[in-house]
Amino acid sequence: MDYISEKTPPVREERLRACNAYGGSSDKLVEKSKKGCLNGIKRKFSQTQGCQLNLSLAIINTIRDAVVIVHGPIGCGGGSLSQAGVNKGFKQLRDSGSKGLLWVNTNLGENEVINGGEANLREAILYAEKEFRPSAIVIVNSCVPAIIGDDVDSVVEQAQQEVSARIVPVHCEGFKTKIQASAYDAVYHGILRNLMDNREREVRSEEDELELLKEKYRASRTVNVLNVSSMSRIDEYELVRILKALDLNLNILPCYAHPDDFYQATQAALNVSICATHDDYFVEHLKEKHNIPFILRTIPIGVKYTNRWVMDIARFFGIEEEAQRFIDQEVKLLEEALEPYREIFKGKKVLIGGGEIRVVANAELLTYLGLEVVGLRAYHYDQFGDEMLGEQEVVQQVPFNVATGQPFEQANLNANLKPDLYMGHVGTNVWAAKQGIPVLPLFQPSQLFLGYTGIFEVARRLARILRNPSFNRNLGANVKLPYFESWYEKDAFSYIDEGNA
Ligand code: SF4
Repeated sequence: MDYISEKTPPVREERLRACNAYGGSSDKLVEKSKKGCLNGIKRKFSQTQGCQLNLSLAIINTIRDAVVIVHGPIGCGGGSLSQAGVNKGFKQLRDSGSKGLLWVNTNLGENEVINGGEANLREAILYAEKEFRPSAIVIVNSCVPAIIGDDVDSVVEQAQQEVSARIVPVHCEGFKTKIQASAYDAVYHGILRNLMDNREREVRSEEDELELLKEKYRASRTVNVLNVSSMSRIDEYELVRILKALDLNLNILPCYAHPDDFYQATQAALNVSICATHDDYFVEHLKEKHNIPFILRTIPIGVKYTNRWVMDIARFFGIEEEAQRFIDQEVKLLEEALEPYREIFKGKKVLIGGGEIRVVANAELLTYLGLEVVGLRAYHYDQFGDEMLGEQEVVQQVPFNVATGQPFEQANLNANLKPDLYMGHVGTNVWAAKQGIPVLPLFQPSQLFLGYTGIFEVARRLARILRNPSFNRNLGANVKLPYFESWYEKDAFSYIDEGNA
C-alpha cells in the first residue's frame, strides 16, 4: 500500500469496499464480506450520518503542543467543545505543562464561498504561529473549501516558508465518505507526509556513537502501541503493565502524543495495533516506508483476545514461554476474582453496539462472563471483522446490524430482542436507556476496559448495573421514543436494500 505521494488519501468505500448498511445474521455477513459483496448495500431511508472531520478531530485535538485550524464555516468542528475538558486533563496526564485545546476556525461565510477562503487560511496559520508558537499546526479541511476549490496545499507550502511549526494538512471533508472511519486514514495520511520524514542523526564523537548504539538497542525492544481516542489513560497503564512484564518498552501514539513522538516511532521494532479499523493505513505505510513490521489482528478486550494480543507480540520477540507463564497467572487470578459475580450474569441477554472490532471482542467477553449475546450493531463493516466474528460460534445466528447511527433500527431491535442490557457508546446508550433498558458504556474516559484488569472492572460495573436496574426501568416508564408503534411491528431492517449485492 502506498498512497503517501498523493495529496489526499482514498476513502474506505474505495480502498476497503467497506459497508455501512446491513441487517442479517452474523454468519451471512462474514460470508458476504469474504465474497466482497457488501459494498453495494444501500439504505432506502437514512436517519443520520457521521462526518469524518469530526472523527478526525477526535485524534487531532489530542496532539500536544499543536494548534488545530478548522478550515470551514464556524459550525464545523463545534463538537470539539464537548471534548475540551477531557482533552486538557488527558494531555496533562502525559505532561503537566501541556496546554488545553488550542483551536482556531477560519470562519468561512458567503463572501468566502464566492471569493475563496485561502486568505483566511493563511491569516489563521500566521496567527497560530505568532500567538502560540506550537510545534505543529494541523489544518482540518471541511466540505466548503473542498467544494469551492481552495488550494489548501499551496497555501501550506507557501506558509511553511514563514513559520517554524510543522504544518500538517488533513483532508477530511465530511461529504466525501459515508464510512466515518475514513477519518483515521485522513489523519494518518497528514502525519505520515509531514511528521515522519527521515532525519539523519549527526554523529560527531565517540560518545555520540555510543549513545546511538544504546538507543538502537532500546529501540530493538520497543513497540509502538497505537492507541485510540476511545481509550482511557488507565487502559494505557494496563497495556504498559502487560508489556513491561515481558520486558518490552512502549511508545504510545497517536493520541496525546507530541509531534516529535511520531519521528521517534520510526525507530521502533514493531507496530502493535489495538484495533485494525483504526490503524491498517498507518501500519501498512510504516512497513512500506520505514520497514517496521506490524501486528493488526485483534484488540485486547476479553480473555481470548487479550491472550491472542499478548502471544502475537511475544512470538515476534521469541518470548512465548515467558508470555504463557504470565497469561496463566493472570487468567488464574481473574477467574478467582470473577467467581462471586458469575451467578448475577447467568443467562442475561445483551445487545452490543459500537465499532466493528470492539463489539465483536465485547461479545466474546460478555459470553465468557455468562451472558447471552442477542444482537450486534457496528458503525461499518469490512474485512478486518471477519476472523473474530467468524470464529465465535454463539453469535453466528444472531442479528448483526451495520449502521452509522440509525437509532430507529436500534430502537426496533431493542424492542423486539428485549435484552436485559444494552452496551454501547454514550451517544447511543441514551436511546436504549429511554426504552427502560439498563446500559453499560462500551467506553468511558475515566474507566478501564482493556487487558485482564479491564475484564474484572467491566464485570464489577456490570454486576452493579444488573443488581439494581430501577433507574432505567423508571426512565422507560416515563419517557417515549418518537416512533409509531407500527414501526416496532416491522422488520428492523426494512429500509436496507441489498439490491444485487
Ligand atoms: S459534514 Fe462538512 S459541513 Fe458538516 S461538519 Fe462535517 S465538514 Fe463541516
